[in-house]
Amino acid sequence: MQKKKYISIYFKCCHVYNRIYINKEGTAYVGRCPSCMTPVRVNIGAGGVNTRFFEAY
Ligand SMILES: [Zn+2]
Repeated sequence: MQKKKYISIYFKCCHVYNRIYINKEGTAYVGRCPSCMTPVRVNIGAGGVNTRFFEAY
C-alpha cells in the first residue's frame, strides 16, 4: 500500500482549503491553517487514511 504524501483539508475556522503533509515518521498528516496558523493533525491508522478530505475546526 502506498501512502499519499499529503491530503487536502478544509479549515472551518477560516473557510479555506489547504494541503497538509505527512510527517517524517509517517504516522500523521500535520500542518497549519494558512490564514490563522491553527495547527492541525490527522493521525494515520493501521489501515491508512481512506479519504483525502478532512475538516478542521
Ligand atoms: Zn484558520
